[in-house]
Amino acid sequence: MSLPLDSSTKRLLVFTSKLGYQTRSFAEAVRKLGIELLLATDRCHQLEDPWGDRAIPVRFEEPEAAAASVLEALRGQQVDGVLALGDRTAVAAAYAARGLGVWHNHPASVEACHNKRRMREVFRDAGLRVPWFKTFPFFPVPEPSLAGISFPCVVKPVSLSASQGVIRANNRDEFSAAVERVRRLLESAEVRASREPNLDCVLVEGYIGGKEVAVEGLLTGGALRVLAIFDKPDPLEGPFFEETIYVTPPRLGETQQRAIELCAKDAVRALGLMHGPIHAEFRVNEEGVWPLEVAARPIGGLCSRALRFALDEKTESIYLEELLVRHALGLPGADWPREPAASGVMMIPVPKSGVLERVEGEEAARGLPGIAEVEITARLHDYIAAWPEGSSYLGFLFARGERPEEVEAALREAHAKLRFTLSPRMPVEHPVTRRVAIG
Ligand code: ADP
Repeated sequence: MSLPLDSSTKRLLVFTSKLGYQTRSFAEAVRKLGIELLLATDRCHQLEDPWGDRAIPVRFEEPEAAAASVLEALRGQQVDGVLALGDRTAVAAAYAARGLGVWHNHPASVEACHNKRRMREVFRDAGLRVPWFKTFPFFPVPEPSLAGISFPCVVKPVSLSASQGVIRANNRDEFSAAVERVRRLLESAEVRASREPNLDCVLVEGYIGGKEVAVEGLLTGGALRVLAIFDKPDPLEGPFFEETIYVTPPRLGETQQRAIELCAKDAVRALGLMHGPIHAEFRVNEEGVWPLEVAARPIGGLCSRALRFALDEKTESIYLEELLVRHALGLPGADWPREPAASGVMMIPVPKSGVLERVEGEEAARGLPGIAEVEITARLHDYIAAWPEGSSYLGFLFARGERPEEVEAALREAHAKLRFTLSPRMPVEHPVTRRVAIG
């Protein structure tokens, strides 16, 4: 059975910073529903229009101006919903939605999500658990003992995402090296070109020990529905914080899961987020649940394929992308429950920086029991940077099973079948890989 749908006149405006694989996934969901897709993007509009999509060109670093150009381009046209993919687009999408009279978040709330220092202030003022935190300019490098920095601490850019530039430091020497490394990253041509704000300073905060989980959620008029809590079974203890495996349901007791849900609700309320998808990260330790961050967007990359929803056993299931499209447009189906199977994704880590020369073992990985999909998204002959400079994975593995343990084992086995040959050659002009928001 598929859903009864009268969406012929619906139009969805999607803000996306590039037309990569995540945008394609959403475009497929939109096409399947027979909805008209309007795109606002900052891809180079001098180039050929590869999709023939007549995307509206904008600059996300000037969100109000970007929203104004979109409103101008769409003047007199009906728009029924707005979605933002990736962190960079979210503020412009919020301004545009306001102008269009479409349900969305307040721009100030979205802006706070994109600024790690502001988010810490908001959480602290709302009485949530926060580590100590301080921001510093790069020059002069602060002397930890005088600047109130204790160890271990985490050094990070204020506005990047996907753990890019996030480094743990356990002592003074590691701290100075980490600050220098973040400075070099933020001064790289690629990061400068993004024109992100706050590239001239670094955020330093206390290291929070414990287990990390991610929450995928959907807000409707301020009410949060938790779509999934993901376990991250690999330890994320630094020095860098590249993500790997996400598995749901989490192997946590009911009480812990409720505590995480409560913390997620408190965090979105503190930020004033009201409508649409959120992706959030938390640490859980003996002191309780600590909100690490909340992003006003869905999980990045292809990870949303790990979540499927169905009304009942007879109904064809839909992926998270389609659920979000339906939600943004007020179509039926947005409240479907998640399928009961355990499910997981591995963001394939980058073992070392280099030019991707060869990928082997895909078929063997695909053939393993429990493996649902193997997608290598890195392009051959492209330079790909390892963390902390990098922010793009080699690809994604998806597994499904009855129990989370089986899913995790299948992902590890499939990963062990893959061989990536990366040559150490450094490109002259682009020391940092393309950027994709994941976590
Ligand atoms: P991003 O938005 O780039 O993902 P985060 O601030 O969420 O940046 O940090 C990325 C990852 O780094 C987190 O998911 C977590 O694993 C780790 N991390 C960040 N800050 C801390 C902290 N204060 N204590 C422990 N781990 C941290």
